[in-house]
Amino acid sequence: MTVARSGDTALVVDTTRRDSPRSSAVIDTSASHPRDTTVAPQLTTGGSSTPSVGPADLEALKGEGLIIPVAGVAAKDLIDSFDDKRGSERHHNALDIMASRNTPVLAAVSGFVVKMHSSVPGGLTIYLSDPTSRFVMMYGHLDSFRPGLKDGDKVTQGEIIGFVGSTGNANPLAPHLHFQITRNDNMREWWKGTPLNPFLVFRPKG
Ligand SMILES: [Zn+2]
Repeated sequence: MTVARSGDTALVVDTTRRDSPRSSAVIDTSASHPRDTTVAPQLTTGGSSTPSVGPADLEALKGEGLIIPVAGVAAKDLIDSFDDKRGSERHHNALDIMASRNTPVLAAVSGFVVKMHSSVPGGLTIYLSDPTSRFVMMYGHLDSFRPGLKDGDKVTQGEIIGFVGSTGNANPLAPHLHFQITRNDNMREWWKGTPLNPFLVFRPKG
């Protein structure tokens, strides 16, 4: 699978839209999400960083009761980096959670492993879905995967899935977890989901 070419993003959404041969497929308008029929998939193809996600999406996400996916990190330690620029045009669209190398990375919510992956920008990366496949969460720059974890495995909230690192294009002096949440508009094209700001889930008040 083609992931990002530049920037600290592994922006599956933006890059696959442009680069993946799979993105040339016709958008499947018959597969709008059964739990979110108000947003048609084609509305997510705009160029801005956060097209067509709204308060209802955020509330649904909050309702899943996510935990901060790095051991020992508290909400007060988080810094919002969702709108940071990465590269010449792309937005970060994720939350960087700083931590020492090899700090355990935890499943933010129960679900299953969609894909374990390695790419030049994102390094060792795990994509987990929530149980309903409504949201897909990306855990990037891992130092290592938890031994034995594989695609399709069920995971329980709080379970160790890997360890913080700086693989990919992260600064080796600043290991962190690159954590992205996308609303999954079509499981057959789960990498095209629309990003929501994880910071707003963990720190709902500004
Ligand atoms: Zn990042």
